Amino acid sequence: MPDKTIFQRIIAREIPSTCVYEDDVCYAFRDINPQAPTHILIVPKKLIVRLNDASPADQSLLGHLLLTAARIARDLNLGRGYRVVINSGADGGETVPHLHLHLLAGRSLRWPPG
Ligand code: AMP
Repeated sequence: MPDKTIFQRIIAREIPSTCVYEDDVCYAFRDINPQAPTHILIVPKKLIVRLNDASPADQSLLGHLLLTAARIARDLNLGRGYRVVINSGADGGETVPHLHLHLLAGRSLRWPPG
């Protein structure tokens, strides 16, 4: 059996994290190396390595992740705005091979990203 991803270990509470939101489908927690005053990761409990590995059967799960980002933004009063990012592959900046959304807020975010 392949090793668990670090995010699977976080979801299983084998590695500590600061939980922001959890339901049957996903787990959201504070990024350990925040790139903005608010930096939250939203991770599906089902392992999908990256967006290219998602299938039509994952449509509802993918929508759920986005709606969860909006829900957390509301809960945390991120009314000034926020950014949701998925890094995919080496050039995309992906470092953890377990699909996740970054929710970034709390400062004015530049465009284009670096
Ligand atoms: P990415 O580079 O898009 O794959 O994002 C992976 C993110 O996971 C990075 O922003 C890391 O700071 C974050 N990360 C890695 N390990 C942990 C951890 N133990 N707890 C919280 N965030 C983590």
